[in-house]
Amino acid sequence: MIKYRSYSLSNFRSIPQIDLLSEEQKFTIEVVGTVLPFKVSNYVIDELIDWDHFEHDPFFILTFPQRGMLSDEHFHEVADLLKSGAENDAIKRAVERIRLQLNPNPAGQEHNVPVFHGERLSGIQHKYRETMLFFPSQGQTCHAYCTFCFRWSQFALQDTKFAMKEADLMVKYLREHPEISDVLFTGGDPAVMKTKFFRHYLEAILDADLPGVKTIRIGTKALTYWPYRFTTDDDAEELMDLFRKVTDNGISLSIMAHFNHPRALETRAVQDAIANILSTGAQIRSQSPLMRHINDRPCLWSKMWRRQVDLGVIPYYMFVARDTGAQDYFAVTLENAWKIFRKAYQQVSGICRTVRGPSMSSEPGKIRIVGVSEINGEKVFVLNFIQGRNPDWTNRPFFAKYDPDAIWISDLKPAFGEDAFFFEEELVSMSD
Ligand SMILES: *Cc1c(COP(=O)(O)O)cnc(C)c1O
Ligand code: SF4
Repeated sequence: MIKYRSYSLSNFRSIPQIDLLSEEQKFTIEVVGTVLPFKVSNYVIDELIDWDHFEHDPFFILTFPQRGMLSDEHFHEVADLLKSGAENDAIKRAVERIRLQLNPNPAGQEHNVPVFHGERLSGIQHKYRETMLFFPSQGQTCHAYCTFCFRWSQFALQDTKFAMKEADLMVKYLREHPEISDVLFTGGDPAVMKTKFFRHYLEAILDADLPGVKTIRIGTKALTYWPYRFTTDDDAEELMDLFRKVTDNGISLSIMAHFNHPRALETRAVQDAIANILSTGAQIRSQSPLMRHINDRPCLWSKMWRRQVDLGVIPYYMFVARDTGAQDYFAVTLENAWKIFRKAYQQVSGICRTVRGPSMSSEPGKIRIVGVSEINGEKVFVLNFIQGRNPDWTNRPFFAKYDPDAIWISDLKPAFGEDAFFFEEELVSMSD
């Protein structure tokens, strides 16, 4: 059994391979890691990162803070504070101000938190009619942190943490919302929870016997950051028994995995974990954002999708880098995202084409870039909703002016001289 270990800003200098880095590179980690969350597991260090080429390694860039993730101005401000041995308070104030400039709460997530009998349910988000997100309070961290994470403010700023202990409240909410067919456990990473907490929540749903609830999903990156959670950890076998119990009860269970690169599928540990999960009757779907420096080449995606299908994993979403944190470092233009998706999609057979994207998770919904086209002599982006805050918006094509530099929906303007996109007026009235 391999024991979980993690490293963060306070102890990363004790990582066995760390002396491959220069002092300057280590200081860069300190500066950037003071602003953006930093945590990495011994599995990522020992089994994923190729230390002979760490500077370009996708898993190194995925977990270790990089110089380009902060602007020069922010970098030098923090570097100067650290070098001059400034007081903790002064560092904290600067960091908080910088974080606020990095859009810590993208996509209006606070608008998704429901009010229930006069109380704000901070552990629930309900944005799309049929799917409720549940944030178990024991799962609000991860085995390692992604440098691109859009939820980084939850780890960094305590007061935006969404958490709810009571399985009771979740069940009550589900009872009053029979339109909900899917409960999605999310975080952080719920798979950091001990099995006893999983049991508490999952059995509450099973015992409540809710006729509308058909699917339970668990969003987790543990298959990339700590696959031993499903194989050799103390309570891994119990977790597999629990998964089996869910599927035996006629509820479909789907692990929403997060793989960013085909190499994450090549270790013995991840392959054993996938096989264990599938043997419980659960399914595994996979999603990932498209990120410069990590996976912005079509062949990586086609290879990843093919490998996933070989292993029994269903490709699900390709996302666009969100408008938060180190977006400038990771962003691929919408046009290039579409080109990369299209090329990768062309290289695989229909069996891999369950994947949808590239998709922007924005306030009105999941917006897909269908492509670039020309209509009546005007070059446009063709877009549609994969998921809309109003279900009626889903799959309605709409058009934006072509803009080769656009990286997010907020950069786009309606095509054909229109004042607003078709959903905008309604969206404003929804968030009042
Ligand atoms: C993506 C997402 C879901 C799930 O949507 P599906 O299309 O059913 O996968 C639910 N809630 C939020 C807020 C989401 O972003
Ligand atoms: S695993 Fe998910 S929640 Fe955790 S840091 Fe990565 S993207 Fe964020």
